[in-house]
Amino acid sequence: MYFTYERPEFDRNDPLEIRRVVGEAYANALEAAKGGRCADYIPELAKADEGEFGICFADMNGERIEFGDVEKRFSIQSISKVINLAACLKFLGFRETFSHVGTEPTGDAFNSILKLDTVSDLPFNPMINAGAIQVASMLSNIMDFDELLGFAREFCMDGDIVLNEKVYASESETGDRNRAIVYLLKSKGVLQGDPDKTLDLYFRMCSLNVNARTLSNMGLMIANNGQNVKTGKHLLHPGYVRTIKSLMFTCGMYDESGEYGVTVGIPSKSGVGGGIVGAVPGRYGIGTYGPSLNKKGNSAGGIAALTHISHLLKLNVFE
Ligand code: GLU
Repeated sequence: MYFTYERPEFDRNDPLEIRRVVGEAYANALEAAKGGRCADYIPELAKADEGEFGICFADMNGERIEFGDVEKRFSIQSISKVINLAACLKFLGFRETFSHVGTEPTGDAFNSILKLDTVSDLPFNPMINAGAIQVASMLSNIMDFDELLGFAREFCMDGDIVLNEKVYASESETGDRNRAIVYLLKSKGVLQGDPDKTLDLYFRMCSLNVNARTLSNMGLMIANNGQNVKTGKHLLHPGYVRTIKSLMFTCGMYDESGEYGVTVGIPSKSGVGGGIVGAVPGRYGIGTYGPSLNKKGNSAGGIAALTHISHLLKLNVFE
């Protein structure tokens, strides 16, 4: 648990002060990363360099403050759950989407099967594996991977996102827990698509290669209610984005979401590849990359950086 930093007052809108704060956050993150370790249950992820860290902090004009490894590409992993949910809402609507997946946090690990088997037939929310697989099953009926990739590129304002073939192969080979989930959903009669097609789409989306800059763009898209800050194009209805922000806030940081909501208070989503995307409504998009994870599976450096920035710049949404 982190506590409020006591600091002399300063102008929180002064670009130089903001730069100073983001720089401090970067230094904190490098230190915090020493206490974690990278994911190894997907063998390809174990090859990451635990000492790496990058942060990209972007404002609504698209101005960026960057430190560290911001161009390093890594797999998006669970952050793709946000993109999948966005696509599902856009193409199938609110009512259809939430007829097949819930909106409640679980307090369990992201890949848990426990409550899905014992408490509810529908997955609890789209930010855990069961819920994201369910969302992928809906998407698999209306679009293929290339179409969803096209949407991801637009949503993240990054035309260079491609599939990381090695991570995709590694996930497909070792994803037995996700296979268990897809067949449990099928056995309950709630899965919406073919199990193999569903899992393939889910694995591919987890294996998209992004960097901290991509994630800050995605944060900006969400912070700006689904409108591209550069072109002004509306990609997503603001009501859908409000739903996405709510679910990121309550369920986006695994079973650390409650503590993170209290200490950081920014709608965010993390992935076991080491990424975190943060969306400060109407103000900033934040992307971090640090593959050294804490015990809950969140980037140790990313949590440290976002905590520092949120406290110093007073970015908790309830501030
Ligand atoms: N592809 C990973 C899995 O399904 C995603 C996990 C994550 O980032 O939380 O296990």
